Amino acid sequence: MPMSGGVPPIGQAVVLNKTDLGAIIEQLWQAGYTVIGPTIAQGAIVFDEVHRLDQLPIGWTDEQEGGTYRLKRRDDKAYFGYAVGPHSWKKYLFPPRLSLFSLQKTQDGFHVQQNQEPVPRYAFLGIRSCDLHAIEIQDRTFLYGPHVDSHYQARREGVFIIAVNCSKAAPTCFCTSMQTGPKVERGFDLALTELSESFVVEVATPRGADLLTGLPYREATGEDLGAAARVVRDTASSMKRHMDTYDLPELLYNNLEHPRWDDVAKRCLSCTNCTMVCPTCFCHCIEEVPDLDGQRAERIRLWDSCFNPAHSYMAGGMIRSDIRARYRQWLTHKLASWIDQYGVSGCVGCGRCITWCPVAIDITEEVAAIRSDADKRTKEGSP
Ligand code: SF4
Ligand code: SF4
Repeated sequence: MPMSGGVPPIGQAVVLNKTDLGAIIEQLWQAGYTVIGPTIAQGAIVFDEVHRLDQLPIGWTDEQEGGTYRLKRRDDKAYFGYAVGPHSWKKYLFPPRLSLFSLQKTQDGFHVQQNQEPVPRYAFLGIRSCDLHAIEIQDRTFLYGPHVDSHYQARREGVFIIAVNCSKAAPTCFCTSMQTGPKVERGFDLALTELSESFVVEVATPRGADLLTGLPYREATGEDLGAAARVVRDTASSMKRHMDTYDLPELLYNNLEHPRWDDVAKRCLSCTNCTMVCPTCFCHCIEEVPDLDGQRAERIRLWDSCFNPAHSYMAGGMIRSDIRARYRQWLTHKLASWIDQYGVSGCVGCGRCITWCPVAIDITEEVAAIRSDADKRTKEGSP
């Protein structure tokens, strides 16, 4: 029964003392990974480099609602006792600002210098199921389409993933509706379920197994596995927000002129927050930045948003010049045309766009309003 010290079998679960996570972090750095994990900064749980256990938000949680986020002390020492914060992992795989190349003026023209910055080899610690799904969705955009994005590919290849099954859902989460959580199912090397003193660790890959070699783990018993399953089940059953996804593309395509778009346009500030925090949004723009002396210029890629009026500028005009058109584009892309493009929804139910919208616009509420009106019209027999 005890397996401590050897290589744990792949596909099985072991139990590890929580404090041994510190040794895992250390080993990842020693193996050349840049470990990114949750930490506290600017009043929120965000992602940054993590070198030691005490950088994790141990004993902290968050309180979230539409337009609201607060940190709060827990009455225990949980390591991962909070829901997703404003950052998503996309900022590492698809950086908000990326230098593509620079041009230097020479006597006979220009010299082009590609961006030679080394790309870190990342280990993501604490990634949740919804965010693993979001990475899969971005993979479809940047890796599996007709054009492979070499910058994304260089960052994505070889990412080491330590996932965490959620033990707490924020009131803004609705991953159960989108079938993206709260249990991680694939795409990880190790998956942790946090119990009071230990982690139940699912070992999914040889390199995940290698990382545990030499640590004092033991084989998980039926009792351990039952306790881990209860954590996920309780989280799923505590989820308060839901979205009815039945026939959603049809519902939205049939209601492109619904008065609800006018209603939401009166509230929406077109601030772009929802797209910045969304782990699947991928809009970007390319800018040339010349030096003042005209000797050098840099081409950069920046996150952009479909809420920016200029994002729809083409052929001498903006095709989505008002907020109504921009909000409708965002929501129908996420929940309808994304499925036509990629075969999956563009929303993983993480709830970030609800929490971080300054006026608390709620994607689940907007869909529900259109659906309930459509249902009413169907019952009345009107078109
Ligand atoms: S929906 Fe909210 S977060 Fe998104 S652009 Fe409008 S006001 Fe900003
Ligand atoms: S649309 Fe909102 S809930 Fe859906 S993935 Fe994006 S941020 Fe999360």
